[in-house]
Amino acid sequence: MRFRVNEFYAPVDPGVLRRERARARELRESGWWKRKLSTGICYYCRRRVGTRALTMDHIVPLGRGGRSVRGNVVPACKDCNNRKQSSLPVEWQDYLTSLGSVSEE
Ligand SMILES: [Zn+2]
Repeated sequence: MRFRVNEFYAPVDPGVLRRERARARELRESGWWKRKLSTGICYYCRRRVGTRALTMDHIVPLGRGGRSVRGNVVPACKDCNNRKQSSLPVEWQDYLTSLGSVSEE
């Protein structure tokens, strides 16, 4: 599945947000997610930071129309998470490009 970061700017319905947050909680409990975490590797920077340092990140944020589905959630280290939250989408894309590990093309 592919996502383009700039596609979603319409306000997200609060009911949809609630539903997607609930789905994210369910995903966190799934064996699929636990296996992903057990690698201990950040999806973005590919550093091995350890299972406990990883958090669930939505590639396309829920606030921008992203969904809590397997194709849109990845384990991310705190550094990447913080950077993503404090960056504009275009700055985040530049960061990913600089890492050379994730292609959004
Ligand atoms: Zn990272």
